[in-house]
Amino acid sequence: MAKVIGLTGGIATGKSTVSRILSDRAAIVDADRLAREIVEPGQDAWRDIVELFGREALREDETLDRAYLRGIVFKEPALRRRLEEITHPRIRALARQRIVKRSHDHDFVIYDAPLLFEAKIHHWLRPVLLVACSRETQEQRLRQRDGLTEADVARHLKAQMPMEEKRRMADFVVENDGTLAELERNVARVWQAVLATSPARYIFLLTDPPESDRPPG
Ligand code: ATP
Repeated sequence: MAKVIGLTGGIATGKSTVSRILSDRAAIVDADRLAREIVEPGQDAWRDIVELFGREALREDETLDRAYLRGIVFKEPALRRRLEEITHPRIRALARQRIVKRSHDHDFVIYDAPLLFEAKIHHWLRPVLLVACSRETQEQRLRQRDGLTEADVARHLKAQMPMEEKRRMADFVVENDGTLAELERNVARVWQAVLATSPARYIFLLTDPPESDRPPG
């Protein structure tokens, strides 16, 4: 069985870039891709979402209108929770299947998940690598990459778990405030630390731990 590692970050901190850099050292299982797979037309999660939000949530070709859904749940936290109750358990189940499958022919498997801490994945998967940068860098990347206004940037960052909290929960932090070459060096350094990690510190549970067994946070 391969060693399984979680990878996360804040919005636009550079997680996808780090995932690409690490893809020659580990198999990557991408949570965003699984999230799209489980809501393909006809899948159970797709049916539950159509039942909850109505056919207005569909585009002409029956695929989910993600922008429409994002707009609704951004304004209605209760609906966001309902949507997550539909999607998260199914993403988790598929993630475990894929991780096990990739484990057969790789020494390391990385589960790349933007909402790793928010979805409490660190309760069944450790160690966790966090890609982090300063607030200024994050704002600048969001403006440049997504062409967001100052107000939109502030709104997006406010909706996220604060980076300081993520830093406290992570086992390793890859800093990404410099150039791409510097990022590659930071990744290499953190990877050395990962390689030196005792096997006893690895956790990969095939079922969710009961609430009572979960560490706080
Ligand atoms: P999200 O989760 O929001 O999709 P992410 O954390 O995966 O974002 P990336 O897409 O990897 O972030 O990076 C965000 C943007 O910043 C991209 O345009 C990327 O090319 C750029 N970027 C990331 N790291 C660096 C760096 N060290 N130097 C220059 N540009 C960078």
